[in-house]
Amino acid sequence: MTLVKRILIIGLVLLLGGCGLVRPRSMDAQGADSFEDDVRTARTLTEAFWKQYFQQLNQTYRPITDFVPYSGNSGPRCGGEPAVSNNAFYCPVGHFIAYDQDWMEALWNEMGDGSVYVIIPHEFGHAVQAQLQTDFELNVQMELQADCYAGGTLSSLVGSGALQAQSGDEDELLLSLEAAGDPTDDWLNPAAHGTAEQRQASFATGWSDGVGAC
Ligand SMILES: [Zn+2]
Repeated sequence: MTLVKRILIIGLVLLLGGCGLVRPRSMDAQGADSFEDDVRTARTLTEAFWKQYFQQLNQTYRPITDFVPYSGNSGPRCGGEPAVSNNAFYCPVGHFIAYDQDWMEALWNEMGDGSVYVIIPHEFGHAVQAQLQTDFELNVQMELQADCYAGGTLSSLVGSGALQAQSGDEDELLLSLEAAGDPTDDWLNPAAHGTAEQRQASFATGWSDGVGAC
């Protein structure tokens, strides 16, 4: 890792932090937004960002068809595969995102709202990959690009004032990145999603240079 990148990451962590993102129009103290508010806002703002970005490319963003909360193992199947607990995933068959709401709310409680604002844009990153028909040799490349897309999405939303970043702690952001799951691989396995350092670096690239750099 270069020094410049390390400095960028430190800056990113100071800026974003774990509990970092609240809507500026909220007059309440940090954390006053409900979990449901944060999930809804993360989805709405992320799709608004991609819609605008696709327009700049003279392409049309195709919104996801559904955004499905589930509990335990009761989630929707994807291509014949059952949903698993403690996960969030994008399903290309049907073009939807599903998430274990109990797991995500527990992360929200333990790590702050930053977790929701990392996981949901990460999954939307996979929805964008499907639309751009991006090919990858390795799963880890796809995952790191989704992290990069999440960083680029969030920095754009903070830059436009749609979201406000607050200071927080590095471990929380890192845990949020590590928690961004997918059903088809073991997300605790660093080989599947990249090491923590790779994921943070990829997120930072998106954050500093935008989704076009991903
Ligand atoms: Zn993923």
